[in-house]
Amino acid sequence: MSSIPNISENAPHILVLGMGGTIAGLASHPEENPLQYQAGQVGVEALVQHIQSAIPQGLALVSRQLANINSRNLSDAHLTALGLAVKEALLDASVRGIVITHGTDTLEETGLFLQATCGKLAQTQAKRVILTGAMLPSNAPGADGPSNLLDALRWASTAIENCPGGIYAVMDGRGCMAMDLAKRHATALNAPIQNSPSSSVGLINPSWLSGVKAVQAAWNEDLPIPQLDKWPWVEILTSHAGARPETVNQWLKSDVQGLVVAGSGQGGFHDDWAAPLSKAISQSIALVRTSRTGAGTTLPNIPETDPPGCLAAGVLSAPRARIALQLALNAAEEANLAGKPLTWQDFFARIADLPEIR
Ligand code: ASP
Repeated sequence: MSSIPNISENAPHILVLGMGGTIAGLASHPEENPLQYQAGQVGVEALVQHIQSAIPQGLALVSRQLANINSRNLSDAHLTALGLAVKEALLDASVRGIVITHGTDTLEETGLFLQATCGKLAQTQAKRVILTGAMLPSNAPGADGPSNLLDALRWASTAIENCPGGIYAVMDGRGCMAMDLAKRHATALNAPIQNSPSSSVGLINPSWLSGVKAVQAAWNEDLPIPQLDKWPWVEILTSHAGARPETVNQWLKSDVQGLVVAGSGQGGFHDDWAAPLSKAISQSIALVRTSRTGAGTTLPNIPETDPPGCLAAGVLSAPRARIALQLALNAAEEANLAGKPLTWQDFFARIADLPEIR
């Protein structure tokens, strides 16, 4: 851990957790080809040092490197480490807020994970956890990382009008709930936020804020963070033209515990998958339907009524539904061990039924 200015870690501060990503990336020829780079090369301490002169006076920062990866390689172990670090910091009286620098590829998964495991705690502790990243590596001309990091620090530390404690994300001057963030463009600077319900940082829009409050009112209890070796095995299968039953049948021979179907349109799948997916359910593989379209809602009764053992994912995209299903399977197992007769469906529905911010 290191701190700027040199303060004791017991003094009030913002904790900056480094996970890597393009924000910490380096291009070998930044002028000629900024998009050819390695993610996760620069330490979080250096990222913070780089913006030191712009950091609001009196704001003490402590940085901690948890990983320095290209986030396409994000693992269950990274999520457990991050979740535990965030929880610990939320409970630490000297931490005022938390900023996480992260690769944009899987911000979508991490955002949902943190909301489902730490969202209530952040709200009750009245602290903001802000995820941020960048689309350009740190040494590219016009790199977006420094301004994103500054926005995140400001949002984590300042008393922005009525914006409650919670899990948020900031990119390109806009903020949203982290569970709403998704990268939906390969290169645009606002790629992770462009389709997310969001608000300009520093000028919070009242209708967005009332959506945040509705989500927080509906989110009553955080789910447990799976222990390292307890993450359930869940895969995503995309339905497409020419889908073959063999694709599903392969999984029936494995130890997979859950399947998320990224279906076409409203979450439907190829008729040739109907029999093998029913077999999956009869083998107690948890099944969730979502849509590969990237937007909209997957309802339980469109196009057909779901059989028991299959849930529609609501507004959750396939990557989010996968994390939600992992957390739900783990929570159900922990609940059953504690003698509570709860199912993965009970936990999954808590996440999938959260109100949508428009
Ligand atoms: N591949 C990079 C990552 O997710 C992309 C980024 O950070 O924008 O780590």
